[in-house]
Amino acid sequence: MTRIQKLTPETTGKIAAGEVVERPFNVVKELIENSLDASATRIVLEIEGGGKRSIRIDDDGTGIAAEDLTRAVENYSTSKITSIDDIYRIRSLGFRGEALASINAVSRMTIRSMEEGAEVGREIHWVGGGIRSDGPFVRTVGTEILVEDLFFNLPARKKFLSSDASETRRIVAAVQGFALAWSQTAFVVRSNGREVLSFPAGTLEERVEMVLGPSVFPHLKQFSMTDGNIKVSGYASMPSMTKGTRASQFMFVNGRAVKDRLLGHAVRQAYQSIIPGDRFPIAVLMLDVPPDMLDVNVHPTKAEVRFENDRDIHRLVSSSIRGILEEKTVSFQDKVESVYKSIFPRDHGSSEVDGVSTPDSYTEPEAGRSDWLFQESPQPLFEKDSEKVRGQVSTGLYWQLHDSYIMIQIRGGMVIIDQHAAHERILYDQARRNVDGEKPAVQSLLFPATLELSPEEFDNFEKVVETLPGLGFEAEPFGMRTIIVRGIPAGVRNWDDGRLLRTILSDLGRGLPATDSILRSFACHSAVRAGEPLTLEEMESLTDQLFATEFPFTCPHGRPTMLRVEMRELEKRFQRTPKTEG
Ligand code: ADP
Ligand code: MG
Repeated sequence: MTRIQKLTPETTGKIAAGEVVERPFNVVKELIENSLDASATRIVLEIEGGGKRSIRIDDDGTGIAAEDLTRAVENYSTSKITSIDDIYRIRSLGFRGEALASINAVSRMTIRSMEEGAEVGREIHWVGGGIRSDGPFVRTVGTEILVEDLFFNLPARKKFLSSDASETRRIVAAVQGFALAWSQTAFVVRSNGREVLSFPAGTLEERVEMVLGPSVFPHLKQFSMTDGNIKVSGYASMPSMTKGTRASQFMFVNGRAVKDRLLGHAVRQAYQSIIPGDRFPIAVLMLDVPPDMLDVNVHPTKAEVRFENDRDIHRLVSSSIRGILEEKTVSFQDKVESVYKSIFPRDHGSSEVDGVSTPDSYTEPEAGRSDWLFQESPQPLFEKDSEKVRGQVSTGLYWQLHDSYIMIQIRGGMVIIDQHAAHERILYDQARRNVDGEKPAVQSLLFPATLELSPEEFDNFEKVVETLPGLGFEAEPFGMRTIIVRGIPAGVRNWDDGRLLRTILSDLGRGLPATDSILRSFACHSAVRAGEPLTLEEMESLTDQLFATEFPFTCPHGRPTMLRVEMRELEKRFQRTPKTEG
């Protein structure tokens, strides 16, 4: 058996280096952080062979004092903190004092630096951590660091590196991230002598447009919100622009790029029920928090942080982004309201204030509106409305296509509504309000139904038993795996002797379902299906209620509920000019 031995400093150095430096990207990240910490206003990065052959960074920061240059590459040497408590005070990106030491241990490194006010700077060349040459050097104030042959002395690690192209992509993406967070600093990147990025110093807006590109920028909207000494700001995309991956979400905490689940979740939540679950919004999120509310020392490459008050932060991020999404919807809704008014030039539901017509029936849905589908409902809510409407709108203006789509003639053309998606949106909004505390309208069953559930369904029933009453289900356990249902939400159409509730329950899967997924499942299974014929009143009522929801244009899964076809479009397709006759 081999005896236990203490490792040589050379070996421990290489092991430690592996923590910080996994690939060229990590080197670049650490070097840029150092330049930014040194207040550089311009950073030039040149890589060769994806950074595997060489990485060179040049900055105009404060420089390193000649007498400190050997110390800079010693492990745990830093000018940024003196004790662990300092990391709760600092705003610098670095603090561990191990990056240069780690990089130095696994490469051939050269540093040339000159400090402000010095007459002469210094240049040192190391190989695998050992000094090979050392002498005076003169340059402008700032630092140049050259890292060659990364992992030349760790061949095993070297084998795990990817192709030049993919290492380059990672590096460029990292620089783009820094560029977003540090718009006042100019960045230039060259790869194998070719310039691949060049961002002059500018405002955040200019930088965001440059980094994300002119095709994306018009779909972004700025947000900003402050709560005490926490500030969140940035840009997020309208539902019109989403991506298939999270790659276009950039998050920074005090200028540090982070991959944070909490922040990611908060962004997701802002788009809840507005975009499909498998799409990702584009977002540049900057969070500024006092350093003492933050632990930056929880991850080897500092890519994660921990917040003292994560709930507040989650809420702030989510509501600031939700704010800009709702703004947009309101103005879009205004448009549809005018469209809608052209269908129903009615006088009810509007109040004249100073000559301005406010269609209040769209923004303040009355309780119990979901009764519309029950013909036998004691007070069909829109009876009065429908009568008035009938007087003004010829019945021919509503038409159901293949028992699935409602087509409505409007002044400028027509609107096509997907009846299932629209009803889903209505039921979802209703259920959301009910779960949030409004009293749901319940339809009592004349004969309470007993349902025998599968073990999984019963399991799920127990998990959501608290949420069900909010939706309008009056159900309770009734012996082993059996439940008794006395009431169901008013407005649900396909109760189907309990199949509806069973489907919702088995749909929830394992694990604790989030309220939102219960709501979506409920809305989806309860909604009128494609293929079901609707009466004229039902079509009217569905349309009416759809416009009363908060996000009428998408279903809770984010798919569109309606399309609009303009007369102009038809005229174009029939190659008519608006005046053509015959
Ligand atoms: P840390 O950034 O955690 O302090 P590093 O190993 O990255 O540790 O750097 C060690 C020290 O070298 C820094 O604290 C800083 O004083 C100095 N340094 C490194 N890079 C630069 C630079 N580009 N400009 C000025 N000083 C630098
Ligand atoms: Mg550093």
